[in-house]
Amino acid sequence: MKKIIVIALLVVLCLPFINQPVSSDQVQFKPRKYITENVIFLNTDGMRFVDGLGAKEKNLPHIWNDIRPNGIILTNCWNNTTTYTAPGHACCITGAWQYEPNNGRIRPTTPTMFEYYRRQFKAPPEDVCILPGKGNCWHLNYSTFPGFGREYSAPIYSLGDNDDKIVAKLKILMETTKPKLVYAILPEVDGVAHAGNYDKYTDAIKHADELIWDVWQTIQTSPDYKDKTTLVIATDHGRHKDGWMDGFKSHGDACEGCRHIFGVMIGPDIKKGLEIKTEELQVDFVPTIGQLMGFATSASDGKPLMEALVERPNKELPDEERSYIQALENECKYFLDNKYKALLPVALNAALLIPKEKLGHSLSDGIFLMGVLDASQKLENKTGFDYVKAWADGWISSGLKLDEISDASSGEVLMRLGEISKDDKYKTNAKKISDWIVGLPFGKSEKGAILSKPIRAPFISDKQVKMVKAENIYAIMPLLIHSQVNFGGDFGKFALDQWKAHKNHLQDGNGLFRHYQIIGVNEEVNPVYWVRGSAYALYALLESEVIAQGNNDILRQIDQLISSEKLGDELIDREQQNGLWLDDLAGQVSDYDTVGNCIIIAGISKWQATKFKKRAEGLQPLCISDFIWHDPNSVNAISPPKIQKESGLNSSMQHILGAWEIWKRIVSSSGLVFGSSEPADNIQRGYQGFNPPVYSKDRGFFIEGQGAFLSALSRTSTLAEKLGTLFFLTPPIK
Ligand SMILES: [Zn+2]
Ligand SMILES: [Zn+2]
Repeated sequence: MKKIIVIALLVVLCLPFINQPVSSDQVQFKPRKYITENVIFLNTDGMRFVDGLGAKEKNLPHIWNDIRPNGIILTNCWNNTTTYTAPGHACCITGAWQYEPNNGRIRPTTPTMFEYYRRQFKAPPEDVCILPGKGNCWHLNYSTFPGFGREYSAPIYSLGDNDDKIVAKLKILMETTKPKLVYAILPEVDGVAHAGNYDKYTDAIKHADELIWDVWQTIQTSPDYKDKTTLVIATDHGRHKDGWMDGFKSHGDACEGCRHIFGVMIGPDIKKGLEIKTEELQVDFVPTIGQLMGFATSASDGKPLMEALVERPNKELPDEERSYIQALENECKYFLDNKYKALLPVALNAALLIPKEKLGHSLSDGIFLMGVLDASQKLENKTGFDYVKAWADGWISSGLKLDEISDASSGEVLMRLGEISKDDKYKTNAKKISDWIVGLPFGKSEKGAILSKPIRAPFISDKQVKMVKAENIYAIMPLLIHSQVNFGGDFGKFALDQWKAHKNHLQDGNGLFRHYQIIGVNEEVNPVYWVRGSAYALYALLESEVIAQGNNDILRQIDQLISSEKLGDELIDREQQNGLWLDDLAGQVSDYDTVGNCIIIAGISKWQATKFKKRAEGLQPLCISDFIWHDPNSVNAISPPKIQKESGLNSSMQHILGAWEIWKRIVSSSGLVFGSSEPADNIQRGYQGFNPPVYSKDRGFFIEGQGAFLSALSRTSTLAEKLGTLFFLTPPIK
């Protein structure tokens, strides 16, 4: 419903421009009469500036001696996002900062140059193509931006990680399908550098230089490309500077070596023999390409490098095309302007469309209702509050039926409702649930760890199985601690004992919690389950810490548990290694749900906020931005191992920001967050085809995802906004 409203609004907004001609000064994008008809963008992966363009003709003889005098070079160009391959190329191909993990499973969140080109010119797929070279770059053929996406994607030609084969294929395509806009990654420089032999690394750079020169000669001897093609050369990221970490072998942090990239351009509209020494950014390439080819790149963060281009007269556009650009600019502005704060009412209103009569009192329902309550409180939204109240009254008047441990999460909703409404009825009933939990017979526990109701697990056996679940801790702890604060008794002790008992079952050698354990069955643990279970366990502690403020004894015990646990750090470390928890972000790419991610993000945000506070108190008043783009030289007061540790935190925060960025786009368009087990393609269609997902009883994960999102946004949006602002305002290292 919300989606339909949004679309209707957009259509109304755009109507005046569809039927009436608009003058050129109404649009931001000003096309000119350029000669360029084709652009080939070659990206040599992981070429450090000082070993490439910075070493002049030593390693790049053709670029330096043959291309540079006839084109331009950028010697002060920077990557301002995570200096890994997938996000680096995503910036190069969208012209916008992207914060995705390096596994190639999260698509760019703003349109790729292919989508801009194909949508504006109604161009067929064969006009564009991508040769990704690397396994984690397959996702770059289209984005998740509303109104773009797969319909405007680029054909992919994957040829493994061999530079020769990629260039050979490119030359064949130039003779056969004759693409007009190409992105090709040459992966060998990076691959060889990671192996650690400096001579082989520079040999690979020299070889890339030969191949690039070969491509330029092919362009200039082909009747289809000669004198109407611009060649762009850049890199996704550099490598660590010498004397920092393991030097040229690796990359991935914010050191100067990793962030300093380069650019080279040659073509009919490019100035000759010019070195551009002003500070330029990785996101400037796509707007420049759009300028050359005449397509608008309205959702990009960069600017066209006009100083690189030959002066050309303005071009008058046909009315239809001008109207298109105007509409596109409005459309992109609408989505990009929806900042975090604006998301909350949109997401809450979408949540309130779900019929409350259909809600029960399971964990899903509890997470959902808590999200509605959190958001309603933050926004002082009476409708949301009444919605939760009506649900609670229904549950109580039907006798407060209880049948599962996870009912406790709905009990916590009652407890919170009691505090807000000052009506004791809700707290009294919440206490009944706590009494029921602590009174459960021993047969319902496994060495002290409380179990879920036995369930049928067809993937393990036909019989009913018993499980120890991290989400049980997550469900019961806040309610029990809350009951302790309000009513005294042994609720708090029981809760803390449960946390420890679950830990005995679920924790691995590193301190992470698995999601669940089936009693008596040894099954392989999906790594995602370690991360998700840890998030539940961490969040249960952090949430209880807040609730326990009214009880010093319990608070002290919880604080002790938090400070002696490595859980938060382990969670971040594990995420650092493989970006696991973002794999399933928003249900867009794989088949896991959103709720784990929201909980993880809320948990990690809180954990990091605590750490920063402690650091700021214990050491010196450091700005968060110092951590995000730390320059090793400027923080040399801190010992190297500490820098390494903080650098780990930085990358994690970038991922959190990335998550908010992606959710921002999704919620802007629909108001709904998917917590889904459906295949990625269906979600994509549902999202981009604007079919609003419908709530159904067996799709509880939708409401779970929505609720977790509302809670995470209500409780951590302040932190996220603060980090986001600092992040975007922090200037690059000079
Ligand atoms: Zn790379
Ligand atoms: Zn570095």
